[in-house]
Amino acid sequence: MIKENVKRLLDELPENITILAAAKTRNADEISEVIKAGIKIIGENYLQDAQGVINNVKEKAEWHFIGHLQRNKVKKTIDVFDMIESVDSLRLAKEIEKWCERQNKIMQVLIEVNSGEENQKNGVVPNDVVQLIREISSLNHVRIMGLMTMGPRFGDPEESRPYFKKTREVFEEIKDLHLPNVEMKYLSMGMTNSYKVAIEEGANLVRIGTKIFGEREGSRI
Ligand SMILES: *Cc1c(COP(=O)(O)O)cnc(C)c1O
Repeated sequence: MIKENVKRLLDELPENITILAAAKTRNADEISEVIKAGIKIIGENYLQDAQGVINNVKEKAEWHFIGHLQRNKVKKTIDVFDMIESVDSLRLAKEIEKWCERQNKIMQVLIEVNSGEENQKNGVVPNDVVQLIREISSLNHVRIMGLMTMGPRFGDPEESRPYFKKTREVFEEIKDLHLPNVEMKYLSMGMTNSYKVAIEEGANLVRIGTKIFGEREGSRI
């Protein structure tokens, strides 16, 4: 099943679109299957989940942290992951800088945009993204590789379009600034229900769970 799902997606999407398999609640065998089928990036929302599977996944992949990162988990998170897609404050970025400097490594990050400007949501609101990136760009062990957004959840993906569009505008604005330590390679938007609209609006990294692995059990999102 997983193999066919991945094949269908790889056939469907243009080559310049990178697929991340959003693997929360999935086990090591399922993740291995996804990588063998041709997916190169695995996303996890929780450090503990990643620690629980990563040693049992023998196939090589890039691991992206896509959940909410607490500062007290940064030290371990930078050991496990290749990219953190959910940086949304200078405080968090400085914590990443501190541990990366000690370990003499550079962490790739995306800035998470709260494109719907929702109160309870993580991410920085669109109007504050440029300022935050200017500040983070002074940290030499943090490399900003682009933006990520979830956007508000809708049944109809068309309703997501304005939020993807907005995030794309901010993405282009920052790209044009040519800041140091800022590459703007990835625009990570779109999930199972919305990836087509997201790609139309400029996403080049889509985070797909259900359409690859099947429905998740239980109520955890
Ligand atoms: C779960 C999750 C996804 C994928 O969700 P699906 O609807 O299963 O495709 C993408 N991004 C994040 C941050 C997630 O937590």
